[in-house]
Amino acid sequence: MSAACDAAQEFTAMTPPDDLGPAVTPNDLDAFWVPFTPNAEFKQRPRLVARAEGMHYYTPEGRAVLDATAGLWCANAGHCRKPIVEAIQKAAAELDFAPSFQFSHPKAFELASRIAALAPGDLNHVFFGNSGSEADDTALKIALAYHRARGEGSRTRLIGRERAYHGVGFGGISVGGMVLNRKWFSGAMLPGVDHLPHTYSREHQAFTTGQPEWGAHLADDLERMIALHDASTIAAVIVEPMAGSTGVLPPPKGYLERLREITSKHGILLIFDEVITGYGRLGASFAAERFGVVPDMITFAKGVTSASVPLSGVIATEDIYKTFADSVAGADHAIDLFHGYTYSAHPLACAAGLATLDLYRDEGLFERVAGLEAMWADAIMDLKDHPLVEDIRQLGLTAAFDLAPVPGTPARRGFDAMRAGFHDHDIMLRASADTICLSPPLIVSEAEIGEIVARTRKAFDQVA
Ligand code: PLP
Repeated sequence: MSAACDAAQEFTAMTPPDDLGPAVTPNDLDAFWVPFTPNAEFKQRPRLVARAEGMHYYTPEGRAVLDATAGLWCANAGHCRKPIVEAIQKAAAELDFAPSFQFSHPKAFELASRIAALAPGDLNHVFFGNSGSEADDTALKIALAYHRARGEGSRTRLIGRERAYHGVGFGGISVGGMVLNRKWFSGAMLPGVDHLPHTYSREHQAFTTGQPEWGAHLADDLERMIALHDASTIAAVIVEPMAGSTGVLPPPKGYLERLREITSKHGILLIFDEVITGYGRLGASFAAERFGVVPDMITFAKGVTSASVPLSGVIATEDIYKTFADSVAGADHAIDLFHGYTYSAHPLACAAGLATLDLYRDEGLFERVAGLEAMWADAIMDLKDHPLVEDIRQLGLTAAFDLAPVPGTPARRGFDAMRAGFHDHDIMLRASADTICLSPPLIVSEAEIGEIVARTRKAFDQVA
Protein backbone atom coordinates (compact mmCIF):
# COMPACT_ATOMS: atom_id res chain seq x y z
CA MET A 1 0.00 0.00 0.00
CA SER A 2 1.33 3.45 -0.92
CA ALA A 3 2.02 6.14 1.64
CA ALA A 4 -0.89 8.09 0.14
CA CYS A 5 -3.30 5.24 0.82
CA ASP A 6 -2.02 5.07 4.37
CA ALA A 7 -2.72 8.77 4.72
CA ALA A 8 -6.22 8.40 3.31
CA GLN A 9 -6.97 5.52 5.69
CA GLU A 10 -5.52 7.37 8.64
CA PHE A 11 -8.34 9.89 8.27
CA THR A 12 -11.37 7.82 7.28
CA ALA A 13 -11.56 6.40 10.80
CA MET A 14 -11.56 9.86 12.41
CA THR A 15 -13.78 10.57 15.39
CA PRO A 16 -14.73 14.15 16.25
CA PRO A 17 -12.16 15.91 18.42
CA ASP A 18 -13.24 16.58 22.04
CA ASP A 19 -12.39 20.24 22.37
CA LEU A 20 -14.25 22.18 19.70
CA GLY A 21 -13.51 25.65 21.06
CA PRO A 22 -15.84 28.46 22.09
CA ALA A 23 -19.25 28.86 20.46
CA VAL A 24 -20.05 31.93 18.36
CA THR A 25 -22.67 34.14 20.04
CA PRO A 26 -25.31 36.03 18.03
CA ASN A 27 -23.45 39.26 18.88
CA ASP A 28 -20.19 37.97 17.42
CA LEU A 29 -21.93 37.28 14.13
CA ASP A 30 -22.49 40.95 13.50
CA ALA A 31 -18.96 42.34 13.24
CA PHE A 32 -17.39 40.01 10.70
CA TRP A 33 -18.17 41.02 7.10
CA VAL A 34 -17.99 37.66 5.31
CA PRO A 35 -16.43 37.87 1.81
CA PHE A 36 -18.39 36.95 -1.34
CA THR A 37 -21.37 35.94 0.81
CA PRO A 38 -24.95 37.18 1.28
CA ASN A 39 -24.20 38.31 4.86
CA ALA A 40 -27.70 38.82 6.22
CA GLU A 41 -28.86 35.42 4.99
CA PHE A 42 -25.67 33.67 6.15
CA LYS A 43 -25.97 35.11 9.65
CA GLN A 44 -29.49 33.72 10.05
CA ARG A 45 -28.11 30.20 9.67
CA PRO A 46 -24.30 30.33 9.59
CA ARG A 47 -22.24 27.51 8.19
CA LEU A 48 -19.39 27.29 10.67
CA VAL A 49 -16.50 24.88 10.99
CA ALA A 50 -14.37 24.72 14.10
CA ARG A 51 -11.84 21.94 13.39
CA ALA A 52 -10.51 20.04 10.42
CA GLU A 53 -8.55 16.86 9.90
CA GLY A 54 -7.76 14.88 6.77
CA MET A 55 -10.90 14.73 4.60
CA HIS A 56 -13.23 16.27 7.19
CA TYR A 57 -14.33 19.51 8.73
CA TYR A 58 -16.07 19.50 12.11
CA THR A 59 -18.80 21.95 13.03
CA PRO A 60 -18.75 23.65 16.46
CA GLU A 61 -21.26 20.99 17.56
CA GLY A 62 -18.89 18.20 16.50
CA ARG A 63 -20.64 17.08 13.31
CA ALA A 64 -18.20 15.70 10.72
CA VAL A 65 -18.57 17.26 7.25
CA LEU A 66 -16.91 15.55 4.30
CA ASP A 67 -14.79 18.11 2.46
CA ALA A 68 -15.49 17.71 -1.26
CA THR A 69 -13.83 21.03 -2.12
CA ALA A 70 -10.46 21.02 -0.29
CA GLY A 71 -11.71 24.18 1.39
CA LEU A 72 -11.56 26.58 -1.55
CA TRP A 73 -9.61 24.32 -3.96
CA CYS A 74 -6.63 24.64 -1.66
CA ALA A 75 -6.16 22.04 1.12
CA ASN A 76 -4.69 19.62 -1.42
CA ALA A 77 -2.83 17.44 1.09
CA GLY A 78 -5.88 17.19 3.37
CA HIS A 79 -6.43 19.20 6.54
CA CYS A 80 -4.10 19.75 9.48
CA ARG A 81 -1.50 17.29 8.24
CA LYS A 82 0.95 16.63 11.05
CA PRO A 83 4.24 17.35 9.23
CA ILE A 84 2.89 20.70 8.02
CA VAL A 85 1.51 21.65 11.43
CA GLU A 86 4.80 20.77 13.11
CA ALA A 87 6.84 22.72 10.56
CA ILE A 88 4.70 25.82 11.15
CA GLN A 89 4.95 25.46 14.92
CA LYS A 90 8.73 25.12 14.73
CA ALA A 91 9.07 28.11 12.41
CA ALA A 92 6.86 30.27 14.64
CA ALA A 93 9.13 29.59 17.59
CA GLU A 94 12.35 29.98 15.57
CA LEU A 95 11.91 32.97 13.24
CA ASP A 96 8.59 34.80 13.43
CA PHE A 97 9.46 37.28 10.71
CA ALA A 98 12.33 38.33 8.47
CA PRO A 99 12.12 41.65 6.60
CA SER A 100 11.28 40.83 3.03
CA PHE A 101 13.06 43.81 1.49
CA GLN A 102 16.85 44.06 1.73
CA PHE A 103 16.97 40.99 4.01
CA SER A 104 15.69 37.45 3.72
CA HIS A 105 16.04 34.01 5.30
CA PRO A 106 17.36 30.62 4.11
CA LYS A 107 13.99 28.84 3.78
CA ALA A 108 12.79 31.43 1.23
CA PHE A 109 15.65 30.44 -1.11
CA GLU A 110 15.17 26.75 -0.47
CA LEU A 111 11.46 26.92 -1.23
CA ALA A 112 11.95 29.02 -4.37
CA SER A 113 14.46 26.42 -5.65
CA ARG A 114 12.06 23.57 -4.91
CA ILE A 115 9.19 25.33 -6.72
CA ALA A 116 11.38 26.20 -9.70
CA ALA A 117 12.47 22.56 -9.91
CA LEU A 118 8.80 21.51 -10.16
CA ALA A 119 8.05 24.02 -12.93
CA PRO A 120 8.64 23.07 -16.58
CA GLY A 121 11.08 24.64 -19.04
CA ASP A 122 13.24 27.49 -17.81
CA LEU A 123 10.68 28.84 -15.38
CA ASN A 124 13.44 29.25 -12.82
CA HIS A 125 12.72 32.30 -10.66
CA VAL A 126 10.06 32.78 -8.00
CA PHE A 127 8.65 36.07 -6.69
CA PHE A 128 6.57 35.49 -3.54
CA GLY A 129 3.29 37.09 -2.47
CA ASN A 130 0.54 36.07 -0.10
CA SER A 131 -2.61 35.55 -2.14
CA GLY A 132 -3.59 34.51 -5.63
CA SER A 133 -4.78 38.06 -6.26
CA GLU A 134 -1.35 39.42 -5.36
CA ALA A 135 0.36 36.85 -7.55
CA ASP A 136 -1.77 37.77 -10.55
CA ASP A 137 -1.27 41.51 -10.13
CA THR A 138 2.46 40.85 -9.67
CA ALA A 139 2.62 38.91 -12.93
CA LEU A 140 0.82 41.68 -14.83
CA LYS A 141 3.21 44.28 -13.39
CA ILE A 142 6.23 42.14 -14.27
CA ALA A 143 4.93 41.86 -17.84
CA LEU A 144 4.61 45.62 -18.23
CA ALA A 145 8.00 46.35 -16.64
CA TYR A 146 9.69 43.57 -18.65
CA HIS A 147 8.76 45.14 -21.98
CA ARG A 148 9.76 48.57 -20.74
CA ALA A 149 13.13 47.24 -19.58
CA ARG A 150 13.67 45.92 -23.10
CA GLY A 151 12.88 49.26 -24.68
CA GLU A 152 9.37 48.22 -25.73
CA GLY A 153 7.42 50.51 -23.43
CA SER A 154 4.60 50.74 -25.98
CA ARG A 155 3.50 47.24 -24.96
CA THR A 156 0.96 48.19 -22.32
CA ARG A 157 -2.19 46.35 -23.36
CA LEU A 158 -3.30 43.23 -21.48
CA ILE A 159 -5.56 40.45 -22.70
CA GLY A 160 -7.66 38.26 -20.41
CA ARG A 161 -10.62 36.02 -21.11
CA GLU A 162 -14.35 35.95 -20.44
CA ARG A 163 -15.36 33.77 -17.48
CA ALA A 164 -11.87 34.02 -16.00
CA TYR A 165 -11.14 34.62 -12.32
CA HIS A 166 -7.83 36.24 -11.50
CA GLY A 167 -8.59 37.42 -7.97
CA VAL A 168 -9.85 40.72 -6.72
CA GLY A 169 -7.06 43.28 -7.20
CA PHE A 170 -7.66 45.99 -9.78
CA GLY A 171 -5.36 44.19 -12.22
CA GLY A 172 -7.08 40.87 -11.61
CA ILE A 173 -10.62 42.16 -12.06
CA SER A 174 -9.60 44.10 -15.16
CA VAL A 175 -8.28 41.04 -16.97
CA GLY A 176 -10.83 38.77 -15.27
CA GLY A 177 -14.08 37.99 -16.98
CA MET A 178 -16.74 37.74 -14.27
CA VAL A 179 -19.39 40.37 -14.76
CA LEU A 180 -20.45 40.81 -11.12
CA ASN A 181 -16.85 41.04 -9.89
CA ARG A 182 -16.26 43.88 -12.35
CA LYS A 183 -19.42 45.91 -12.66
CA TRP A 184 -19.37 47.54 -9.20
CA PHE A 185 -15.88 48.84 -9.84
CA SER A 186 -16.08 49.50 -13.54
CA GLY A 187 -15.03 53.13 -13.13
CA ALA A 188 -11.54 52.05 -12.12
CA MET A 189 -10.67 49.21 -14.49
CA LEU A 190 -7.21 49.20 -16.07
CA PRO A 191 -7.35 50.81 -19.51
CA GLY A 192 -6.31 48.88 -22.61
CA VAL A 193 -7.68 45.45 -21.67
CA ASP A 194 -9.42 43.05 -24.05
CA HIS A 195 -11.00 39.67 -23.39
CA LEU A 196 -10.79 36.53 -25.47
CA PRO A 197 -13.99 34.48 -25.66
CA HIS A 198 -14.35 31.74 -23.06
CA THR A 199 -13.99 28.18 -24.24
CA TYR A 200 -17.27 26.62 -23.11
CA SER A 201 -20.07 25.56 -25.42
CA ARG A 202 -22.83 23.32 -24.15
CA GLU A 203 -23.87 22.64 -27.71
CA HIS A 204 -20.47 21.17 -28.58
CA GLN A 205 -19.16 19.92 -25.24
CA ALA A 206 -22.05 18.69 -23.05
CA PHE A 207 -21.14 15.92 -20.59
CA THR A 208 -17.51 15.76 -21.67
CA THR A 209 -14.92 14.37 -19.28
CA GLY A 210 -11.37 15.61 -19.73
CA GLN A 211 -10.52 18.04 -22.53
CA PRO A 212 -13.25 18.72 -25.10
CA GLU A 213 -12.50 18.11 -28.77
CA TRP A 214 -14.26 21.31 -29.85
CA GLY A 215 -12.93 24.84 -29.35
CA ALA A 216 -9.21 25.12 -30.23
CA HIS A 217 -10.10 27.69 -32.89
CA LEU A 218 -11.28 30.12 -30.19
CA ALA A 219 -7.61 30.96 -29.56
CA ASP A 220 -7.47 32.48 -33.03
CA ASP A 221 -9.40 35.47 -31.75
CA LEU A 222 -6.06 36.61 -30.41
CA GLU A 223 -4.91 37.17 -34.00
CA ARG A 224 -7.92 39.44 -34.49
CA MET A 225 -6.95 41.53 -31.45
CA ILE A 226 -3.38 41.72 -32.67
CA ALA A 227 -4.59 42.89 -36.08
CA LEU A 228 -6.68 45.56 -34.36
CA HIS A 229 -4.17 46.92 -31.86
CA ASP A 230 -0.82 45.81 -33.35
CA ALA A 231 1.43 43.41 -31.44
CA SER A 232 3.74 46.27 -30.53
CA THR A 233 1.08 47.52 -28.06
CA ILE A 234 0.32 44.18 -26.34
CA ALA A 235 2.23 43.11 -23.22
CA ALA A 236 0.64 39.85 -22.13
CA VAL A 237 -2.17 37.33 -22.34
CA ILE A 238 -3.32 35.78 -19.06
CA VAL A 239 -5.50 32.67 -18.81
CA GLU A 240 -6.33 29.98 -16.30
CA PRO A 241 -5.28 26.80 -18.17
CA MET A 242 -8.53 25.37 -16.79
CA ALA A 243 -10.97 28.02 -15.57
CA GLY A 244 -11.97 26.89 -12.08
CA SER A 245 -14.16 29.33 -10.19
CA THR A 246 -16.55 29.92 -13.08
CA GLY A 247 -17.39 26.24 -13.22
CA VAL A 248 -14.50 24.01 -14.34
CA LEU A 249 -13.97 24.83 -18.02
CA PRO A 250 -11.21 22.51 -19.29
CA PRO A 251 -9.21 23.82 -22.26
CA PRO A 252 -10.26 22.34 -25.60
CA LYS A 253 -7.63 20.08 -27.15
CA GLY A 254 -5.05 22.21 -28.97
CA TYR A 255 -6.29 25.53 -27.51
CA LEU A 256 -3.39 26.27 -25.16
CA GLU A 257 -0.88 25.15 -27.80
CA ARG A 258 -2.42 27.64 -30.23
CA LEU A 259 -2.28 30.48 -27.66
CA ARG A 260 1.41 29.70 -27.09
CA GLU A 261 2.12 29.69 -30.80
CA ILE A 262 0.46 33.07 -31.43
CA THR A 263 1.92 34.81 -28.36
CA SER A 264 5.45 33.56 -29.16
CA LYS A 265 5.15 34.69 -32.78
CA HIS A 266 4.28 38.23 -31.68
CA GLY A 267 6.58 38.67 -28.65
CA ILE A 268 3.61 38.71 -26.25
CA LEU A 269 4.09 37.13 -22.82
CA LEU A 270 1.81 34.23 -21.91
CA ILE A 271 0.80 33.94 -18.23
CA PHE A 272 -0.86 30.84 -16.81
CA ASP A 273 -2.84 31.50 -13.64
CA GLU A 274 -2.33 28.17 -11.86
CA VAL A 275 -3.74 29.23 -8.50
CA ILE A 276 -6.15 26.29 -8.71
CA THR A 277 -4.48 24.01 -11.26
CA GLY A 278 -1.04 24.00 -9.59
CA TYR A 279 0.22 21.48 -7.05
CA GLY A 280 -1.42 18.29 -8.19
CA ARG A 281 -5.03 19.24 -8.88
CA LEU A 282 -4.69 18.00 -12.47
CA GLY A 283 -2.34 15.10 -11.69
CA ALA A 284 0.89 17.00 -12.38
CA SER A 285 2.88 19.72 -10.62
CA PHE A 286 1.32 22.31 -12.91
CA ALA A 287 -1.21 22.32 -15.77
CA ALA A 288 1.66 23.55 -17.95
CA GLU A 289 3.29 20.16 -17.43
CA ARG A 290 0.11 18.19 -18.02
CA PHE A 291 -0.61 19.98 -21.30
CA GLY A 292 3.01 20.27 -22.42
CA VAL A 293 2.67 24.04 -22.94
CA VAL A 294 5.24 26.25 -21.23
CA PRO A 295 4.12 29.84 -20.53
CA ASP A 296 6.42 32.78 -19.67
CA MET A 297 5.00 33.05 -16.15
CA ILE A 298 2.99 30.82 -13.83
CA THR A 299 1.12 32.24 -10.88
CA PHE A 300 0.40 29.95 -7.92
CA ALA A 301 -1.08 30.06 -4.40
CA LYS A 302 -3.48 27.75 -2.49
CA GLY A 303 -1.96 24.25 -2.80
CA VAL A 304 1.62 25.41 -2.29
CA THR A 305 1.06 25.27 1.48
CA SER A 306 -2.02 23.05 1.27
CA ALA A 307 -3.82 26.20 2.48
CA SER A 308 -2.21 26.07 5.92
CA VAL A 309 -0.61 29.55 5.72
CA PRO A 310 -1.21 32.16 2.98
CA LEU A 311 1.50 32.05 0.33
CA SER A 312 1.54 32.76 -3.39
CA GLY A 313 4.00 33.59 -6.10
CA VAL A 314 4.97 34.09 -9.70
CA ILE A 315 7.41 31.78 -11.46
CA ALA A 316 9.18 33.61 -14.27
CA THR A 317 11.50 32.45 -17.04
CA GLU A 318 15.24 32.89 -17.13
CA ASP A 319 14.77 35.51 -19.86
CA ILE A 320 12.41 37.64 -17.76
CA TYR A 321 14.62 37.50 -14.67
CA LYS A 322 17.75 38.23 -16.66
CA THR A 323 16.12 41.16 -18.46
CA PHE A 324 15.52 42.84 -15.10
CA ALA A 325 19.02 42.00 -13.87
CA ASP A 326 20.59 43.34 -17.08
CA SER A 327 18.53 46.51 -16.94
CA VAL A 328 20.37 47.60 -13.77
CA ALA A 329 23.72 45.90 -14.37
CA GLY A 330 26.62 48.05 -13.18
CA ALA A 331 24.39 50.60 -11.45
CA ASP A 332 25.03 50.76 -7.69
CA HIS A 333 22.02 50.37 -5.44
CA ALA A 334 19.67 50.02 -8.40
CA ILE A 335 16.59 47.95 -7.60
CA ASP A 336 15.62 45.65 -10.45
CA LEU A 337 11.87 45.41 -9.69
CA PHE A 338 9.92 48.05 -7.79
CA HIS A 339 7.43 45.68 -6.25
CA GLY A 340 7.01 43.51 -3.15
CA TYR A 341 4.97 42.84 -0.02
CA THR A 342 5.90 43.06 3.67
CA TYR A 343 4.99 39.39 3.97
CA SER A 344 6.59 38.13 0.74
CA ALA A 345 8.24 34.81 1.67
CA HIS A 346 7.04 34.96 5.28
CA PRO A 347 9.04 32.41 7.33
CA LEU A 348 5.93 30.51 8.51
CA ALA A 349 4.62 30.26 4.96
CA CYS A 350 7.98 29.06 3.63
CA ALA A 351 8.22 26.40 6.34
CA ALA A 352 4.67 25.31 5.53
CA GLY A 353 5.49 25.27 1.80
CA LEU A 354 8.57 23.09 2.27
CA ALA A 355 6.72 20.61 4.48
CA THR A 356 3.82 20.52 1.99
CA LEU A 357 6.08 19.83 -0.99
CA ASP A 358 7.76 17.04 1.02
CA LEU A 359 4.37 15.54 1.71
CA TYR A 360 3.26 15.70 -1.92
CA ARG A 361 6.50 13.98 -2.94
CA ASP A 362 6.63 11.37 -0.16
CA GLU A 363 2.99 10.33 -0.59
CA GLY A 364 3.08 10.59 -4.39
CA LEU A 365 -0.08 12.69 -4.32
CA PHE A 366 0.19 14.18 -7.82
CA GLU A 367 0.62 10.69 -9.31
CA ARG A 368 -2.24 9.55 -7.10
CA VAL A 369 -4.55 12.05 -8.82
CA ALA A 370 -3.42 10.86 -12.26
CA GLY A 371 -4.21 7.29 -11.16
CA LEU A 372 -7.63 8.21 -9.71
CA GLU A 373 -8.78 10.40 -12.58
CA ALA A 374 -10.61 7.77 -14.66
CA MET A 375 -12.42 6.39 -11.61
CA TRP A 376 -13.34 9.93 -10.48
CA ALA A 377 -14.66 10.83 -13.95
CA ASP A 378 -16.83 7.68 -14.00
CA ALA A 379 -18.10 8.30 -10.49
CA ILE A 380 -19.25 11.87 -11.07
CA MET A 381 -20.93 10.90 -14.37
CA ASP A 382 -23.22 8.77 -12.22
CA LEU A 383 -25.18 11.99 -11.65
CA LYS A 384 -25.79 12.48 -15.37
CA ASP A 385 -29.32 11.08 -15.09
CA HIS A 386 -30.31 13.42 -12.24
CA PRO A 387 -33.26 15.58 -13.32
CA LEU A 388 -31.57 18.73 -11.99
CA VAL A 389 -28.27 18.21 -13.83
CA GLU A 390 -27.90 19.95 -17.22
CA ASP A 391 -24.19 19.39 -17.76
CA ILE A 392 -21.13 17.86 -16.08
CA ARG A 393 -17.49 18.78 -16.71
CA GLN A 394 -14.33 17.21 -15.27
CA LEU A 395 -10.58 17.47 -15.41
CA GLY A 396 -8.04 16.00 -12.98
CA LEU A 397 -9.61 15.89 -9.53
CA THR A 398 -12.23 18.55 -10.29
CA ALA A 399 -15.83 18.42 -11.41
CA ALA A 400 -18.70 20.82 -12.07
CA PHE A 401 -22.43 20.25 -12.32
CA ASP A 402 -24.64 22.86 -14.00
CA LEU A 403 -28.06 22.71 -12.39
CA ALA A 404 -31.31 23.65 -14.10
CA PRO A 405 -32.12 27.23 -13.13
CA VAL A 406 -35.36 28.19 -11.43
CA PRO A 407 -37.20 30.02 -14.21
CA GLY A 408 -37.56 33.74 -13.61
CA THR A 409 -35.21 33.93 -10.60
CA PRO A 410 -31.54 34.92 -10.30
CA ALA A 411 -29.18 31.94 -10.49
CA ARG A 412 -29.36 30.18 -7.13
CA ARG A 413 -29.60 26.42 -7.55
CA GLY A 414 -25.94 25.97 -6.66
CA PHE A 415 -26.40 27.91 -3.43
CA ASP A 416 -29.48 25.86 -2.56
CA ALA A 417 -27.53 22.62 -3.12
CA MET A 418 -24.54 23.87 -1.15
CA ARG A 419 -26.77 24.77 1.81
CA ALA A 420 -28.60 21.44 1.69
CA GLY A 421 -25.27 19.62 1.46
CA PHE A 422 -23.81 21.30 4.52
CA HIS A 423 -26.81 21.35 6.83
CA ASP A 424 -28.51 18.10 5.91
CA HIS A 425 -26.02 15.75 4.21
CA ASP A 426 -22.69 16.48 5.92
CA ILE A 427 -20.81 17.48 2.80
CA MET A 428 -19.05 20.68 1.80
CA LEU A 429 -19.85 21.63 -1.81
CA ARG A 430 -18.75 24.76 -3.65
CA ALA A 431 -21.50 26.87 -5.18
CA SER A 432 -21.33 29.43 -7.93
CA ALA A 433 -24.74 30.63 -9.13
CA ASP A 434 -26.40 27.57 -10.74
CA THR A 435 -23.24 25.45 -10.63
CA ILE A 436 -21.73 23.12 -8.01
CA CYS A 437 -17.99 22.43 -8.14
CA LEU A 438 -16.06 19.60 -6.51
CA SER A 439 -12.31 19.43 -5.86
CA PRO A 440 -11.58 17.12 -2.91
CA PRO A 441 -8.20 16.89 -1.20
CA LEU A 442 -5.81 14.70 -3.20
CA ILE A 443 -5.79 12.08 -0.41
CA VAL A 444 -9.45 11.19 -1.09
CA SER A 445 -10.03 7.43 -1.08
CA GLU A 446 -12.17 5.54 -3.59
CA ALA A 447 -14.74 4.91 -0.84
CA GLU A 448 -14.85 8.63 -0.08
CA ILE A 449 -15.37 9.41 -3.78
CA GLY A 450 -18.41 7.11 -3.66
CA GLU A 451 -19.60 8.94 -0.55
CA ILE A 452 -19.09 12.37 -2.20
CA VAL A 453 -21.23 11.34 -5.18
CA ALA A 454 -23.94 9.79 -2.96
CA ARG A 455 -24.19 12.85 -0.71
CA THR A 456 -24.12 15.26 -3.65
CA ARG A 457 -27.02 13.32 -5.17
CA LYS A 458 -28.95 13.68 -1.91
CA ALA A 459 -28.33 17.44 -1.88
CA PHE A 460 -29.57 17.66 -5.50
CA ASP A 461 -32.63 15.52 -4.66
CA GLN A 462 -33.49 17.89 -1.85
CA VAL A 463 -33.22 20.94 -4.11
CA ALA A 464 -35.15 19.31 -6.96
N1 PLP B 1 -6.70 33.03 -9.56
C1 PLP B 1 -7.48 31.94 -9.55
C2 PLP B 1 -7.48 31.04 -10.74
C3 PLP B 1 -8.26 31.63 -8.45
O1 PLP B 1 -9.05 30.56 -8.47
C4 PLP B 1 -8.20 32.48 -7.32
C5 PLP B 1 -9.00 32.17 -6.13
O2 PLP B 1 -9.83 31.30 -6.12
C6 PLP B 1 -7.37 33.61 -7.37
C7 PLP B 1 -6.64 33.85 -8.50
C8 PLP B 1 -7.33 34.57 -6.23
O3 PLP B 1 -6.70 33.99 -5.13
P1 PLP B 1 -6.88 34.66 -3.70
O4 PLP B 1 -8.29 34.46 -3.27
O5 PLP B 1 -5.87 33.92 -2.85
O6 PLP B 1 -6.52 36.10 -3.83
